[in-house]
Amino acid sequence: MDPKLLDILACPLCKGPLKPAADKSELICKADALAFPVRDGIPVMLETEARTLNVDERLDK
Ligand SMILES: [Zn+2]
Repeated sequence: MDPKLLDILACPLCKGPLKPAADKSELICKADALAFPVRDGIPVMLETEARTLNVDERLDK
């Protein structure tokens, strides 16, 4: 993913910063415990498409 793109991305709910998942398949908002999918390199910033983080993921690794 383009690092510049990541700079301008913010969580649509809390407007906070997003952290890419280790495999870059998702963008994670820790504050909301949501993971937004990245499809074909394009982040899908829709709450309806987001996955809720599990307990392990909510703990900072
Ligand atoms: Zn958020």
